[in-house]
Amino acid sequence: MTGDRLPHEDLAAAWRKARPRPAGRHLDSAAMSRQSHRVLEAAAHHARHEAELGGYVAEATADDLLQQGRSVLGGLAGMAAADVAFVESAQAALVALLTGWRLPAGSRVACLPGEYAPNIAQLRACGLRPEPLPVDGIGRAEPERVARLLTDDPPAFVHLTHIPSHRGLLQPAAEVAALCREAGVPLVLDAAQSLGHTDTDVGADVVYGTSRKWLAGPRGVGFLCVRPAIAARLTPVLPEPEGVPPMRAFESGEAHVAGRVGLVIAMGEHLAAGVDRVRERLVAIGRLTRDLVDGVGGWQVVEPHDEPTATTTLRPPDGVDVVATRSSLLSEHGIVVSAIGPERAPGEMTGPVLRISPHLDASVDDLEALAAAL
Ligand SMILES: *Cc1c(COP(=O)(O)O)cnc(C)c1O
Repeated sequence: MTGDRLPHEDLAAAWRKARPRPAGRHLDSAAMSRQSHRVLEAAAHHARHEAELGGYVAEATADDLLQQGRSVLGGLAGMAAADVAFVESAQAALVALLTGWRLPAGSRVACLPGEYAPNIAQLRACGLRPEPLPVDGIGRAEPERVARLLTDDPPAFVHLTHIPSHRGLLQPAAEVAALCREAGVPLVLDAAQSLGHTDTDVGADVVYGTSRKWLAGPRGVGFLCVRPAIAARLTPVLPEPEGVPPMRAFESGEAHVAGRVGLVIAMGEHLAAGVDRVRERLVAIGRLTRDLVDGVGGWQVVEPHDEPTATTTLRPPDGVDVVATRSSLLSEHGIVVSAIGPERAPGEMTGPVLRISPHLDASVDDLEALAAAL
């Protein structure tokens, strides 16, 4: 077993060197990645600036940087800076979108049977009716059947979670986007697990997500990108301030600006690493993880072996408790992973899984240590 089983080792070394040394083996980026020194320092620097200059004066000095950030986020989603609003989380983005859209109660929204439970709850809280998108046995949308649904009985919009939280599965978002466009049905893409992980410029009408996962930015920051045709249908609670694009009405005036600054720096690091190289290494890490852990101690990999994501989930052997396993991996082996219960995606999960989600710095040694511990 040698290091050349993973491509772009330079990315791993650079990622590691740019960050505080981990206390153990961090294989949990689908929950939250480790921030870099520069990201931590930029956020701290802005907070210090607030204390020195006054919060709103400091915010004005960060204006250009924040606008660069909107531009990069827009670029990653296939949109423009004017289409982007910073919000507090992915959930906050969805709430802002639904609040502004004001769809009639009872409007149907097609989403995956394995949709993230909090998203379903938000749709319902807005009086919308989630209905299942047709999927195959693993939970992947089936474009031919989706096309039929869109022509026979079009929903108000399609909500697609690009990579779910409970499974390392990549949905065919570009194909679904093309079908939605053809049918005139808007596509809303939950990119919380996909931005910084895979290509999110897929032609969706709305893309939203979060800072703390694959982009390795601070917590408490998210974003909402909306194409002008959909933005024109939104009614914000309050109008945008004078002289800024309409989507700015969805940014909260009172915000964790230091966190937004940190996210902008994190995105700069992501671009500098080379997004294609980042994706290639993450895909290789996912494949190697599945190679090394499938069947070990009776744990079974859920995803297809070659699924192009870094996230792997494992079903436990009979009688083994996933939450207890997650705890002992942490306390006895210093390995950080997540236990995901079926309440995360009750329409699809039949039991709990252990989720392994390494970022660029993962080594063959880390993954072998996980396999040995299991
Ligand atoms: C984490 C996650 C969210 C929620 O992100 P927050 O920033 O915590 O609101 C939404 N969707 C998916 C698929 C996620 O994994």
